[in-house]
Amino acid sequence: MRSHRIAVIPGDGIGQEVIEAGKKVLSALAEKSGDLRFEFVDFDWSSQRHLEKGEYIPAGGLDELSRFDAIYFGAVGSQDVPDHISLWELRLAICQGFDQYANVRPARVLPGVNSRLKGAEDIDWIIVRENSEGEYSGNGGRVHQGFPDEVGTEVSVFTRKGVERIHRFAFQLAQSRPRKQLTLVTKSNAQRYGMVLWDEVFFEVAKDYPDVSIDRELVDAVTTRMVLKPETMDVIVATNLHADILSDLAAALSGSLGIAPTANLNPAGTFPSMFEPIHGSAFDIAGKGIANPVGSFWTAAMMLEHLGESTVAERLMAAIERLTASGLQTKDLGGTATTRDVTQAICADIERQ
Ligand code: NAD
Ligand code: MN
Repeated sequence: MRSHRIAVIPGDGIGQEVIEAGKKVLSALAEKSGDLRFEFVDFDWSSQRHLEKGEYIPAGGLDELSRFDAIYFGAVGSQDVPDHISLWELRLAICQGFDQYANVRPARVLPGVNSRLKGAEDIDWIIVRENSEGEYSGNGGRVHQGFPDEVGTEVSVFTRKGVERIHRFAFQLAQSRPRKQLTLVTKSNAQRYGMVLWDEVFFEVAKDYPDVSIDRELVDAVTTRMVLKPETMDVIVATNLHADILSDLAAALSGSLGIAPTANLNPAGTFPSMFEPIHGSAFDIAGKGIANPVGSFWTAAMMLEHLGESTVAERLMAAIERLTASGLQTKDLGGTATTRDVTQAICADIERQ
């Protein structure tokens, strides 16, 4: 019996709904396999906990979390807590605390999903987001707060080590794909220091991967290429902020934000990696039972792959594709199905296979 210990942090809003659904699907896969087990341990780290106890993560919480094989995360964000507090105190505390520096975001149009973009069926991208420094380093400050001459700074920090390791990661990922193509995205015309460092290190690292074909884009220009020539890209590497934005665009182009998954990887394996749908807690639909859980299913497939369960991951991906192809879709995709309808359908399908 293969067994995996998974820390589950549903978080806020629809995070709770889609993670509940994802656990059901993982359990259905385990039951079907017969020789596979998941030990789920739930953590109530959420905005509600913050409001009640003054903290998202209790003392010693990260130590406890560090003993799991993987973390399955929903979303964090509440109308009662400023977003920069919820994000930094929960999600970024884990990503940065566990040095999950590689954020991997696949984008692909699943069968049966309608994109509003002509030619969207050609989208097959993986966006690699630097996840530990850059624009989200947390450096900066405010002086003369509240006064007319107030100044706020937000300082991006790019280290050679941080830049080199994300480029190496992206090259290796590109190397493992059939097209072996990597696009570098920066803004090194307007930003002369950190962005030029990104470019330089990229071309140095490229020498070690001669079989990967490379090109480069400025971040503004790449948005047009994503829309007008989606077939010309494969793997994309970009900074924390740029890739954050590009991956929401990629998700929308490939159908819906509700579908897209992401992995926050600690490639060294010193700490557990964290898997989450890319969407947030979605105040507008939370509690209604209509959130699309497909993003959390695809997320679970990425987590299975990471846990060495490639065959089970493939089985899950195939079930997801049969589900979307069947036309049973939630409102964000133009359908009328509920989170529960979709979850029951995929669990039944897994059982039948
Ligand atoms: P959001 O992703 O929560 O929602 C954006 C839009 O997409 C909404 O209209 C929402 O209904 C829709 N949507 C998102 N996921 C969906 C799904 N699974 N099914 C159907 N529709 C879906 O982004 P937002 O509105 O900018 O942020 C809401 C809160 O979530 C904020 O507090 C924000 O800080 C937080 N947030 C958290 C994360 C995270 O935890 N990783 C990511 C993004 C936003
Ligand atoms: Mn984002």
